Amino acid sequence: MNIDLEIFSPVQAISNPLFDEHDVKVFLKRDDLIHPMISGNKWRKLKYLLKTAQEQQKDHLVTFGGAYSNHLLATAAAAARFGFKATGIVRGEAVDNDTLFLCKLHGMQLIFTDRESYRDKPALFANYFGNNEDAFFIDEGGASAEGALGCSELVDELTETYDHIFCACGTGTTAAGIINGLTRHQLKTTFNAIPVFKNGSFMKNEIDHLLTAPIHYDLHTDYHFGGYGKANNELIDFIKQFVAATGIVIEPVYTGKMMYALYDLIAKKHFKPGSKILAIHSGGIWGLLGMKDKF
Ligand SMILES: *Cc1c(COP(=O)(O)O)cnc(C)c1O
Repeated sequence: MNIDLEIFSPVQAISNPLFDEHDVKVFLKRDDLIHPMISGNKWRKLKYLLKTAQEQQKDHLVTFGGAYSNHLLATAAAAARFGFKATGIVRGEAVDNDTLFLCKLHGMQLIFTDRESYRDKPALFANYFGNNEDAFFIDEGGASAEGALGCSELVDELTETYDHIFCACGTGTTAAGIINGLTRHQLKTTFNAIPVFKNGSFMKNEIDHLLTAPIHYDLHTDYHFGGYGKANNELIDFIKQFVAATGIVIEPVYTGKMMYALYDLIAKKHFKPGSKILAIHSGGIWGLLGMKDKF
C-alpha cells in the first residue's frame, strides 16, 4: 500500500482589530484539516516513519505517550488506515479517557507502565518486543529525523513568503522540520518556536540536533502557563474568544499557547509594521476533551 495522504492544509487569513492597530497581517496554516484523527503535524511526522517500517517489512508500530497524547491517537489511526498493527505504551497507571478510547477504537493495544520504567523507552521496547521481528519502534511524539523531514514539506506547500512563522513545540521535531524547509528554500523568514513546557530553553538543543544547517530562530519560553497541560483563566478566556471570533478550534495544550504568544507579541510591538506572520495550526483538537473541566 502506498503510504500517503492527500494534504489539505489551506492558508487562511484571520483578522482582529489588534492586527490593524499594529499593521500586521496574520495567517493560519490549517494543518488541523489534514485528517480528523491523524491530526496536523502528527501526520507529517509519521509519514516517513511508516514508509521506513514498510521498507523494513515491519507491520507492527510500537510507540509511547501520556494518556492524553495526540501522537498515540494519530499513530493508532494511521496504523488502521495503512494496515499496521499498533501498540501504545502509556505512561502511568491504567486509566480511561476520550483519547485512549479513540486509540482503542482504532485497534491499538495499550500497555500501561509506571513512570520510572517509562523513562527508558528502548528498554521497554526490548522488554516487550525484543523477540518480535515485526515490531517497529517509534519514539514518543514521533521525534525523529524522519519526522523532521516530513514536517519540512510544509514549507514546500507555501505559495507566498512570510516574515515570521509561529509554531508550538513539544519535542521540537516539527519546528526543526519547518526550519529545515525554510533553509532548503533559502527563505529569510524568522521562525518563532513556542515551547509548551516550563523551562523551555532546553528546546534549543532538541531543535538544533535535527537541523540540516545552523540558523537563527527565536525561542519564546514565557508562554508555558505553568507547564505542560497547565492553563489559567487568561489562556482559557483567550481560547474561548478566539474560537468564537474565528470559528477555528484551538486548545490549551499547544495551539492555544502559541496563538496567545502571537497576540501578546503583537500587542508588545515585537513585529515591524507591515509584517506578514504565518501561524501553524498543528492540530490536536481532541486534546480539548481532556481539558473540558477548565472551561
Ligand atoms: C504534538 C503536537 C505539537 C508538538 O510537536 P513537536 O514536533 O513534538 O514539537 C504541537 N502541536 C500539536 C497540536 C501537537 O499535537
